[in-house]
Amino acid sequence: QAKVPSDIEIAMAQTPKAITQLAHEIGILPDELESYGKYKAKVELSVLDRLAHRKDGKYIIIAGITPTPLGEGKSTTTIGLAQALGAHLGRPAFACVRQPSQGPTFGIKGGAAGGGYSQVIPMDEFNLHLTGDIHAVTAANNLLAAALDARMFHEATQSDKALYSRLVPAKKGKREFAPLMFKRLKKLGIDKTKPDDLTPEEIKRFARLDVDPATITWNRVIDVNDRFLRKITVGQAPTEQGHERVTGFDISVASECMAVLALTTSLEDMQERLGAMVVATSKQGDPVTADDIGVSGALAVLMKDAIKPNLMQTLEGTPVFVHAGPFANIAHGNSSVLADRVALKLAGTEEGDSPDRVGYVLTEGGFGADMGMEKFCNIKCRVSGLTPDAVIIVATTRALKMHGGAPDVTPGKALHETYTKEDLVTLREGCKNLIKHIENSRKFGLKVIIAINQFSSDTPAELELIRQESLSAGADAAVVSNHWAEGGTGARALAEAVVATCEGPSNFKFLYDLNLPITDKIAIICKDIYGADGVELSELAQKQVETYTRQGFGNLAICMAKTQYSFSHDPKLKGVATGFTVPIREVRLSAGAGFLYPLCGDMQTMPGLGTRPGFWEVGLDPASGRVVGLF
Ligand code: ADP
Repeated sequence: QAKVPSDIEIAMAQTPKAITQLAHEIGILPDELESYGKYKAKVELSVLDRLAHRKDGKYIIIAGITPTPLGEGKSTTTIGLAQALGAHLGRPAFACVRQPSQGPTFGIKGGAAGGGYSQVIPMDEFNLHLTGDIHAVTAANNLLAAALDARMFHEATQSDKALYSRLVPAKKGKREFAPLMFKRLKKLGIDKTKPDDLTPEEIKRFARLDVDPATITWNRVIDVNDRFLRKITVGQAPTEQGHERVTGFDISVASECMAVLALTTSLEDMQERLGAMVVATSKQGDPVTADDIGVSGALAVLMKDAIKPNLMQTLEGTPVFVHAGPFANIAHGNSSVLADRVALKLAGTEEGDSPDRVGYVLTEGGFGADMGMEKFCNIKCRVSGLTPDAVIIVATTRALKMHGGAPDVTPGKALHETYTKEDLVTLREGCKNLIKHIENSRKFGLKVIIAINQFSSDTPAELELIRQESLSAGADAAVVSNHWAEGGTGARALAEAVVATCEGPSNFKFLYDLNLPITDKIAIICKDIYGADGVELSELAQKQVETYTRQGFGNLAICMAKTQYSFSHDPKLKGVATGFTVPIREVRLSAGAGFLYPLCGDMQTMPGLGTRPGFWEVGLDPASGRVVGLF
């Protein structure tokens, strides 16, 4: 077999087509396209109105088995399959993927453009700033953080009257409320429209958010694996007069602003959700929101371009939407609802179209199916109202052997020989992990297709074993796919299986009812999906659950923050973990995104860098100015 060049070499060797041409091919009008350079463009949301009459294309979620730290090829399979469906079977086919975070790109995992002959190009632009959406999220998040700290400072250092007269200043002798202030007046039940009519008691309630500093959950964010920002003290300059506070940074892709971007359905909805984000509880026990702080309009303005999905292309010139990038372990792990909706309409059919015209939207849910797929079904589909037709679970001999007891896979270290030689015994044992993911998918009523992502060292007997184990466990199809080495040609059989499997109707259902108590919903995920015996909430988590329930947030969805390396909360428990209880250390509220966010075990919301991060390889080739070393 010919050696496959590095990802960036393959990507750089291909000249992409102009994005305007691709847009034309897939039926986007010139007015609906906003180019960012030659090969990337944003698509206007108006396309949704123009194509509203179309019946959506088929909707498929790409998930995976519990991965090794190297990744098992979900992105690569998403792109390879899109190439096969689009460029080889002649179907409209859209891949919808997340924008990678700079954290993993320069950390251990590398970029997320796929790999080999199944990639999004230009891969350097894809992996780095793209069209600036993550920067917009960072800007919005941090404006809110700055606004909160400044407001607390001003409240602490001013009388009610002084505070009020600065919040509602007299212009040409007349005071007027800013538009957002009416929301606050309504929330407080103060039925007055003129600032001068408020009583001193009302002025105090209006002007003082009275944030209880111990309840602040809003962190600053940055899109770097910067472990030294996990815990910091702010306000140390003398100008802040001793108003110091211990806080921290999360990675940008774990920000609630990112979740809002991924889950929103329109500009108006985005502004509402940003305004509803809760940053703390007041000393009186009420939630304090971005609307209360007066910043929600500004946040929406910062994110008004980010809301438009980004169009790029595969190595074989088929369309890819790259939009939003929440991590799947510490966030909800799925690309945007809007990109999926736009793609489903573009892949959709009109009355009189032949059934052969129906297209496919492949959307990726991060990490194992216990993470990205569970959150896709219970969070994303609930918001979007969309119904998936099938799930594809990507499996590799590598991860399955690890689950079967082979030594750990460590990035940067050579693989143990079990991984490069035939070992059917270890592999068969490891297939239990895959089987549990198949059983879990069935709980959502989904049709299940197993994509066996072929590596050059896999033997025919190993690949056949995974196929047989999958089919015996009830998968609708199980297909070996060699798209990494061969591009779309290598995924043709997988594409044909997808077309055949998606023929009939979908029996999709949610795993839990939103009206159940918070702890019941958490327990259902932990028991039914992870296989836990139960859940144990810390004292803090219990208190938070009580507060959120009292504040009226009990009916939100659940977004578990859990390690991706095990069904359990303990990354060391491989295969199918049993006999464990999930410890919940803390529960955060994402009222704007619409979920509660339990943190399992010692899960961190800011990753760190190891001794030998990926950035060591990255640089510019002095002769051509091209990026080298990204993978
Ligand atoms: P995931 O999306 O599941 O995290 P990726 O698709 O990003 O995984 O793949 C992880 C890495 O593995 C990438 O660098 C990719 O090039 C490589 N890879 C994926 N599939 C194969 C394969 N079949 N053979 C060799 N390398 C592969």
